[in-house]
Amino acid sequence: MDYKTLVEVYEEIEKTSKRLAKTYFISNLLKKTPVNDLQRIILLLRGKLFPEWDKSKIGVAGRLVLKSIAAASGAHNTEIENLWRELGDLGLVAEKVIQNKTQITLFQKNLTVEKVFSNLQKIATIEGMGSVDRKTKLISELLSNATPKEAKYIVRTVLEDLRVGIGSSTMRDAIVWAFLPIDINFDSEKISIDVDREEYNKMVEIIQSALDKSNDFGVVVRAATVGISELEKVTIIPGNPIKVMLAQKENNIDDAFKRVGTPAVIEFKYDGFRMQIHKFQDQIKIFTRRLEEVTKQFPEVVKYVQENIGAEEFIIDCEAVGYDSKTEKYLVFQHISQRIRRKYDIEQLAQKLPVEINVFDILFYNGENLLKRAFKDRRVILEKIVKEKKFEIILSHKLITSSKEEAMKFYDESVRKGNEGIMVKNIEGIYKPGSRVGTWIKVKSTMDTLDLVIVSAEWGEGKRSGWFTSFTLACIDDDGNLLEIGKVGTGVKEKAEEGLSFGELTELLKPLIKTEKGREVTFKPEIVLEIQFEEIQKSPTYSSGYALRFPRVKTLREDRSPEDACTLDRIKEEFEAQKKS
Ligand code: ATP
Repeated sequence: MDYKTLVEVYEEIEKTSKRLAKTYFISNLLKKTPVNDLQRIILLLRGKLFPEWDKSKIGVAGRLVLKSIAAASGAHNTEIENLWRELGDLGLVAEKVIQNKTQITLFQKNLTVEKVFSNLQKIATIEGMGSVDRKTKLISELLSNATPKEAKYIVRTVLEDLRVGIGSSTMRDAIVWAFLPIDINFDSEKISIDVDREEYNKMVEIIQSALDKSNDFGVVVRAATVGISELEKVTIIPGNPIKVMLAQKENNIDDAFKRVGTPAVIEFKYDGFRMQIHKFQDQIKIFTRRLEEVTKQFPEVVKYVQENIGAEEFIIDCEAVGYDSKTEKYLVFQHISQRIRRKYDIEQLAQKLPVEINVFDILFYNGENLLKRAFKDRRVILEKIVKEKKFEIILSHKLITSSKEEAMKFYDESVRKGNEGIMVKNIEGIYKPGSRVGTWIKVKSTMDTLDLVIVSAEWGEGKRSGWFTSFTLACIDDDGNLLEIGKVGTGVKEKAEEGLSFGELTELLKPLIKTEKGREVTFKPEIVLEIQFEEIQKSPTYSSGYALRFPRVKTLREDRSPEDACTLDRIKEEFEAQKKS
């Protein structure tokens, strides 16, 4: 398929904010896409080159793209740089420069989706000597053959900043519209659909369930072209991470019981970070909540799992919690967060900052997918296969009860032991990957925090020059758009020994710079901070429509990606809840 066809759809989608209209455009494109291009189209539509479970990155900086634009167009670096400063978006710069291009390409070819995809995927795998030149060549080859509009989207894809705004639920629905046996009448005037709702929900659930298991739109769309029976065959593949299930919040045990029913399973809510551990073909793989593989960083966990879990093949869901080996006291997340990122001196760090694995769920066991099994049955399997060993691997501490008094006592015990509170779980609940569902409820003792993404910052002045100091934060909406919600500087330290420092954040952000205008710098959204705050207020200043009163950085969340950031819906809910209380 010609890349031009995809670009036309990008353009249409960019013009609308209506989900149904986007779904309509995407489904039409999917219907006319040849089967061998489907996987590429489905990834490129969302500006991606790899499935959700594969965390490979293109990892190209603005400077390299600038060089490629110059090579493809014959324009001077300074001219391109000036335009970049003026327009603030290298995609628009490429569009403009290619339009005025002085270099005539004799053998200009029509770009195909396959060509664009394969060049971009190659870029992600090139490393070592001469890699900058090879990457520049691959991009400029595409740009030399591109129309101005195509150039805009190629550059935005390379920079992992497509700005088209297609959320995963829109993509899921578009697959239903395109391939499943159901009549959907789209009214383009009213932007509404006429459909048998019950049947439609059933179809959406079929696609969602295949997605939950594979975490791969490419696999799902190919199965969808064959039919429902093929979708039902899609299954979990140990070794490929699955999105984790998430909890909703209630302020007290009564409300939590009302939500999940009684008797409920109550567990300590440990303050560490999520680990999804896979065992298959004698291999162990460990993933964080953002589905990034961290097996190398946790050699001792690999050993605990090998020695203490009696099964050939499984996927377990756990919280890794730090403890002080001298005092044997548990530590809060901040202490161990550096273990996630550390690439050197791993053994020493493991000795200094050991973790204990608290296992609370199992999703796959010896060839069997357990997602649809009741929680109480999954727990029975866990109890059968995990040999508990303190400070290595244990099962999450639990109580099954219908009594509020017993639950309160359990909550107090949990908080006394330094945990964040409790999790209240529906005893029959299934495991719903990637959803914040009402069958898991958290009741916390600690103040609520928000995970927000850094989208821009300001260079500091005086003794803080050389550091980014004031950070603009964003939450995320259903379509994956980042919406600003305020600025923060408080809580970040000047000295590295005291905690998360300006120096450390600056080093993390520098490779992510997109644009620079005076002291203002924008970044690729990558870094997630956990933010404490006093109150949420309505505000016309920020694109989310909200602002935070007295925000303060609590910690860097290396285990979270921008997609895990706090949603606009959650901000709205918190705002309403605040008004009531
Ligand atoms: P929070 O900041 O409150 O941890 P969150 O957005 O990270 O919230 P939630 O889904 O709201 O995640 O809360 C569940 C989180 O609590 C899990 O992601 C997990 O890391 C942690 N956790 C600790 N103990 C448990 C447990 N027993 N069962 C499930 N999750 C647990």
